[in-house]
Amino acid sequence: MKPATLDVSTDLGGAPGPARALLVLGFLLYAAVAGAAWWLALRLVPAELSLTLAGHTLHTASAHDHLNNVFLVFLLLPTMLGVEAATVGWRDSSLRQLIFARTPSLNTDLAVFVLGQGHVLDVVGRVMMLGASMISGAWIHEAIANATGVRLRPPPLPFALQLPLYFAIYTFFDYWTHRIDHTKFMWPLHRYHHSAEDFGVVTSVRQHPATFTAIFVVNLPLAVLGAPADVMIYVNVLVVAIGFLIHSKIEADWGFVGRWLVQSPNHHRAHHKLDMSRPTGHFAIAPIWDRLFGTWYEDRPDPKLTIGVDTSYRHGVFVPRDMLRDYYHFWIGWFGGRNDGPNAARFFEKR
Ligand SMILES: [Zn+2]
Ligand SMILES: [Zn+2]
Repeated sequence: MKPATLDVSTDLGGAPGPARALLVLGFLLYAAVAGAAWWLALRLVPAELSLTLAGHTLHTASAHDHLNNVFLVFLLLPTMLGVEAATVGWRDSSLRQLIFARTPSLNTDLAVFVLGQGHVLDVVGRVMMLGASMISGAWIHEAIANATGVRLRPPPLPFALQLPLYFAIYTFFDYWTHRIDHTKFMWPLHRYHHSAEDFGVVTSVRQHPATFTAIFVVNLPLAVLGAPADVMIYVNVLVVAIGFLIHSKIEADWGFVGRWLVQSPNHHRAHHKLDMSRPTGHFAIAPIWDRLFGTWYEDRPDPKLTIGVDTSYRHGVFVPRDMLRDYYHFWIGWFGGRNDGPNAARFFEKR
C-alpha cells in the first residue's frame, strides 16, 4: 500500500540546470560550514587531553586524531543524502521525503534515528564498539604473541593496499554474522531491519538496538590479526558509507563492481525481498563472498521489488513496542517457543 504523499517540492526532479546547481551549491555551503567548524575545533581543542571522571583520569595524546574521525563520520550521512539527491534528483530524494513526504515506513526510520538508536548513537556506538574491539583484540593479539612467540602482523603494504585487504577481511566476517542473523535464533532481532517497506538513506540505521554487538564481533578478528587502528577506522567509515548508499533511492546495479566488489542498491533490495518463494541471497557487502558460499543469484535485481516482512509492524513513532516484542521473540526462540509471527518461518534461510 502506497500512502498518499504531499508533494510540496518545486519539482527539481530530473532536474535540469538551475535546480541541480542549487542542490550542489547547498551542499558546497554545508561542506564549507562543516569544514570551518572542523578547522576551528582543531584549533580550540588541545592535542593532549586529560579528563577526570568519577576519580578516573583519562589521558589521550591524540585528541586531534579522535576529533578527525568524529568529523569524518558525522559528515557521512549528509554527504550520502547529497550524493543520492544529486543522482536521483531532489523530487525523488530521501532528503525531500524525510522533510516533506514521510511514508509510514520512513517515519519508523526517523523514529529509530531520533530515539537515539539512529545516526548519532549509531555512530557513537560504532566508535565505542570499534574501540572495545580494538582494545580486546589487541589484548588477544598480545596473549597469542606471549603464548606462542608468533606475532601476527599486517603485511608490509602501503595504506592504499591495506584498505582493500582489510575491507575484504571485514566483509568476510560481516557476511557470516549476517548469515547468522538470518537463522531462526537471531532473526527476530534482524527482522527489525527488514521490516522497512521503503528504502531511504536513513533506512540503514533501522537496526534493533540489541544487534549492535555485531560491530564488535566483526572488528575483533581484524584487531587480533594486527590490523592498524587507522585502517580499521577507515574500513568502518567505508562500510557505513556503503550502508547509506545501498539503502538509498538510487536504482543501480553498478555493473561489474556490483557483481563482484561492492554490493549495489539493487542487489541489497533483492536481499530485502518480501517474496520468500526462493531462499534469501545477497548477504555480503562484498559480493565475492556470496559467490563463494552459494548465496548469489545471477538474475538482474529489480529496483522496484516489493520489500518487507510478513510479521506485522506498527510503523510510525511508536517503535519501542515492536522493539520489545522482537526482543521477547528473540528470547522465547532460544527456549523453543515460536518466535516468528504468523508466517515468518518462511523467512528463515532454508538451504
Ligand atoms: Zn538481512
Ligand atoms: Zn538492509
